[in-house]
Amino acid sequence: MAVNTATTPKIEGFDPLIKPSGGFEELKRLVIDQGVCSYCSTCAALCERVVMGEDGLPVCGSDLESGKDCTMKMGSLGCSDNGTCYDCCPMISFSVPDMEKSVFGRTREDAALGCYEKIAAVRSKNKKILENAQDGGCVTSLLACALETGMIDGAVVSWRGKDWTPSSGVATDPEELLKSAGTKYSRVPATMTFGSAIKDYRRLAMVGTGCQTTGARRALEGPLKNLVEITSSSKSPLDFILIGLFCFENMSYDCMKKTVESSHGVKLEDVVKTDITKGQFIVHKKDGEKIKQSVKIFNHCLSDSCHLCTNFTSYLADISVGSVGTDPGWSTVIVRTKKGMELFDRAVKAGYIEVQDKVMIDAVKFNFGLKEKHRKQKKEEREKEGEYVPEYGLE
Ligand SMILES: Cc1cc2nc3c(=O)[nH]c(=O)nc-3n(C[C@H](O)[C@H](O)[C@H](O)COP(=O)(O)OP(=O)(O)OC[C@H]3O[C@@H](n4cnc5c(N)ncnc54)[C@H](O)[C@@H]3O)c2cc1C
Repeated sequence: MAVNTATTPKIEGFDPLIKPSGGFEELKRLVIDQGVCSYCSTCAALCERVVMGEDGLPVCGSDLESGKDCTMKMGSLGCSDNGTCYDCCPMISFSVPDMEKSVFGRTREDAALGCYEKIAAVRSKNKKILENAQDGGCVTSLLACALETGMIDGAVVSWRGKDWTPSSGVATDPEELLKSAGTKYSRVPATMTFGSAIKDYRRLAMVGTGCQTTGARRALEGPLKNLVEITSSSKSPLDFILIGLFCFENMSYDCMKKTVESSHGVKLEDVVKTDITKGQFIVHKKDGEKIKQSVKIFNHCLSDSCHLCTNFTSYLADISVGSVGTDPGWSTVIVRTKKGMELFDRAVKAGYIEVQDKVMIDAVKFNFGLKEKHRKQKKEEREKEGEYVPEYGLE
């Protein structure tokens, strides 16, 4: 059965939606052309025919406009039945409860928080990391611990240029990790880096937002699940740890830059940190001045994917980290899997992080509630227009 309608496909048990895909062409028709691409880059991670175009949207093959060059046989990983790009896209409907059963062995206890083993407030014990980090430096400290104690060989992280141009790569030493600390409020093709990194590294971590960690998780539970050998040189199984960031919304770099420069009246070269707190986009200048503007002025920089997403806490990661819920200078941490607990305990024992129990869960739930409200509004709007809306089996 082909999904030929531009309206939300009616799904029974989700299978009928997943089965009839036509690879990239169908991904383009439902997701890219209908404005719900999250720019996570998972599709480009898994097939060498798919690349991220100049506007940040994925394109495929030599016929870049139509994507018709997709043969559904290509890609270094081999193509799945429906196209790996389609099967792993976080904006293509899938059953999150089924995925949770597969990853965590159960479904979520709490809608906002997802499945978890532990929730805590965390702060790095490393002064340099704290100076460079966004919040409590938890992400960088966990990665430093994983790298320095031999749990991983590299970590997929994001860096920024002088004018905050975002880039993504694999950090393999503490200096590269330290440079990645701090939030860039713009889209980074982290999952694409993960796709190429798995050809060179067997034990990896990846840091990403909800859509990126969902894309990576769909790949790890799908086409990569039983894939032992990706290149002829390596035969050991993939060992992977996903660190998810809380994320309300993300935007294109060009739009963020233009908006900051015109509204805050400052060049990004002169900015040392950006932060979003209590509805304000705060720019920290090199000279110590802080300029605040309502975050709403960035609304035109968002994709519908952010409005349709309720994955505020990156619920498919091994460990999720955010700022909401803890005092300034601390990170809120949700540890979800055994592997996540192993890294967390190791980081405590080896003195990388300090931990407190006090987390304001209601603040996390409040943000999740706002995202639910946005999704409801956007879903209604799009359905009225006969436009595609991804479903996750959560409502
Ligand atoms: C776009 C975006 C929106 C966010 N929105 C919220 C929010 O609404 N509420 C909330 O509580 N928290 C939000 N966060 C998370 C928060 O800003 C911090 O990243 C988190 O608290 C971790 O802080 P830390 O000090 O432990 O991390 P650090 O030690 O400073 O490490 C930060 C890590 O994030 C990675 N990173 C930075 N920018 C990006 C990016 N654009 N894409 C992928 N990876 C990136 C870096 O590679 C680094 O590994 C958001 C993060 C992003 C990227």
